[in-house]
Amino acid sequence: MTFPKSFATMIGNSARIRANHLAKETPMIRKAALLIARNSWFRKAILGLPVLRDLAGRFVGGKDLASGLATVRGLNARGLKGSLNFHGMHAESIAEAQTAIDQAIDALQAIGADRLDAHVSVKLTKIGFDLDPALAEAGLRRILDCAARTGGFVRLDMEEAVYVEDTLRMFEAMLSQYGPERVGIVIQSYLRHRRQDLDRLMALGASIRLVKGGYREARDVVLHRRVEIDTAFHEDIERLLRQGHAPAIATHDAEAVAWTKTVQKRLGLGQDAFEFQMLLGVKPDLQARLREEGYAVRCYVPYGGDWATHLVGCLRRLPMDLLGAARPHRTKG
Ligand SMILES: Cc1cc2nc3c(=O)[nH]c(=O)nc-3n(C[C@H](O)[C@H](O)[C@H](O)COP(=O)(O)OP(=O)(O)OC[C@H]3O[C@@H](n4cnc5c(N)ncnc54)[C@H](O)[C@@H]3O)c2cc1C
Repeated sequence: MTFPKSFATMIGNSARIRANHLAKETPMIRKAALLIARNSWFRKAILGLPVLRDLAGRFVGGKDLASGLATVRGLNARGLKGSLNFHGMHAESIAEAQTAIDQAIDALQAIGADRLDAHVSVKLTKIGFDLDPALAEAGLRRILDCAARTGGFVRLDMEEAVYVEDTLRMFEAMLSQYGPERVGIVIQSYLRHRRQDLDRLMALGASIRLVKGGYREARDVVLHRRVEIDTAFHEDIERLLRQGHAPAIATHDAEAVAWTKTVQKRLGLGQDAFEFQMLLGVKPDLQARLREEGYAVRCYVPYGGDWATHLVGCLRRLPMDLLGAARPHRTKG
């Protein structure tokens, strides 16, 4: 199937407005992380500190694809699956977008050649959607052509709410051409209007990764109270396990994990009916325990690109994680 010719123009009309909106909204944490990521002497100085080097090694797959692949090999050896992501979002130049596209293709080729148990995760804005939607579309097609050749799988991450509709439409077009074995999508439970998207995509047989949602958004767009988000997430988990195709539940929340297992057992599903997904290095004990219990666990492995943004985001949450303290739901930028 060919993509409608006017699609790129159609979805690109508001790209600049979106980019401006996001620039205003850019949280301090992202700015700090970008400073680390893009300033080589500063990065070298910071990461020279042993404690930060160790933490980077825990949460980041490495500075390049070779290190990311080595991380995936290590995960596979422990029975865990991987999802490689050339980290970052909002490419600021065509060259940056092309690099992200090439990285995804190289990752798929290496995964296929080495027979690794791993997917590739891609963000539309990292492959140039803000700059030129047609470029992102063409790049995604090149990536999926490679997935088709190598037997790989690519999941489109979901970004800020302003991108959701465009991402879904791009995904649906790709799904109809490449099929659910090659391309999947993400649904964010904190979105007030996500239910219809979930139903629509399940009806298409799409492979969905369900997450709570990770961005700061306006109150009229997303649920804000932690209890509301958790309730919506639990409802969506049940819906997805009932009707979904190769679903993935991505969470580190022990209650959500327990709820998923309860629903799985109540519905009489096997442990292979879905997979858990978590970020590399976050709750490693929970990851190992689930694997021991027989569940499939896939680790999201960010590498290269703006990897420091990811590291700073994880570090921000780490003390609470270590303390095991209850915290209000705060979304990351
Ligand atoms: C594999 C994977 C893919 C994702 N893809 C997307 C996506 O495409 N789009 C999107 O909007 N969001 C995505 N997210 C993020 C998701 O939306 C949530 O923001 C994030 O997972 C935190 O929610 P939680 O379910 O873990 O529960 P929470 O209640 O927020 O967290 C539970 C516990 O995990 C700890 N924790 C959570 N995140 C981190 C972290 N980064 N570092 C250290 N500790 C942490 C918390 O401190 C807490 O102790 C993804 C998450 C995962 C695991």
